[in-house]
Amino acid sequence: MINKKSVEDIDVKSKRVLVRCDFNVPLDKETGEITSDKRIVESLKTINYLIENGAKVILCSHIGKTGKNISLDKVAKRLEELLSRKVIFLKDIYSSETQKVIDNLKEGEVVLLENTRMTEKEEANDMEFAKKLASFAEVFVNDAFGSAHRAHASTEGVTHFLPSVCGFLIEKEIEALDKGINDPKRPLVAVIGGAKVSSKISVLTNLLDKVDTMIIGGAMTYTFIKAQGGKIGKSLCEDDKLDVAADILKKALDKGVRFLLPVDNVIAQEMSEDAKTRICAVDEIPDDYMGLDIGPKSIELFKGEIEMAGTVVWNGPVGVFEYEKFANGTKEIALAMANSKAVTIIGGGDSAAAVEKFGLEDKMYHVSTGGGASLEFMEGKKLPGIEALQDK
Ligand code: AMP
Repeated sequence: MINKKSVEDIDVKSKRVLVRCDFNVPLDKETGEITSDKRIVESLKTINYLIENGAKVILCSHIGKTGKNISLDKVAKRLEELLSRKVIFLKDIYSSETQKVIDNLKEGEVVLLENTRMTEKEEANDMEFAKKLASFAEVFVNDAFGSAHRAHASTEGVTHFLPSVCGFLIEKEIEALDKGINDPKRPLVAVIGGAKVSSKISVLTNLLDKVDTMIIGGAMTYTFIKAQGGKIGKSLCEDDKLDVAADILKKALDKGVRFLLPVDNVIAQEMSEDAKTRICAVDEIPDDYMGLDIGPKSIELFKGEIEMAGTVVWNGPVGVFEYEKFANGTKEIALAMANSKAVTIIGGGDSAAAVEKFGLEDKMYHVSTGGGASLEFMEGKKLPGIEALQDK
């Protein structure tokens, strides 16, 4: 349960409300068009609530990296379509014109400020910048779950200057993730994939205290297999993390967690769409081959676990799913989750992108909008953008 005040716990009528959204949507590299509007759609509930309750709505968000100077103009347009109402896009938060528009806002009107990462002050959590953003409003609503693990000016900084509460998306995300990890229907199965053990040590360690079964996939597999003395060819491996992998295996054993590594895998000599592939045991990979996806026996093994689960939490693809040739394992995991009766929770980032790519989003209990944020939540960390909000 989230113990923070939400937008429903405060009076917003006639108030200027600053809302931090997560409009960090993916854009087509060539056309600059939005390729998935999921994050905008997920923010509508809070925005509509504020409009309906007579707030003057001032939206802000980052998009892309600092220095890239990507505009939110496409987001403003898409938001206008989704809300079926005018969204006034304000390009320069320091201009007198912007101040005038905000001073004259009427109830139910919506403005969107330009990308907060147009300045380095955002990520630096610069208090002068935070104060400027806060000066536009009387109340702050944080609904940017995808940025909640960062203490930036528009997520944490502004809370020093305004009464601050969470929006419906943050509420939904925390409730789903908390239920999945801390109060799960058992057995609780975690599927952890991705590239590196090093980036998943904390999540693996934290989840070992909570799960009944831990399923490992992706390139991470090979560090574990090598640590057990297997032959992994030229698969991705972190040689400096063999001890860590061995330690995690031992902890799993001590705690009585079923720790399942793939038993077979799809191997190739190169990572390309027209590479020739073979299936082999995961610990018998020839020297000039690398493992790029889980094999059919592993798929069956993992599907069986998912079918019997009460809750499944998934973070990280189990193969190089960006290539059609190595996407099958990830697709089968997604399908098994979609078809299971378990409470299914997808951490954001690559796993969410995979579920979206396979068109299975609607079949999941919860698909998080925040990759880094959901990972940090699963690591058991506090998220500063949420910690800074008022307690209930
Ligand atoms: P992460 O950000 O750690 O979750 O890693 C995700 C990345 O891991 C994706 O880009 C996948 O393509 C990659 N990945 C998954 N399995 C493998 C593998 N067997 N070999 C190399 N990369 C992989």
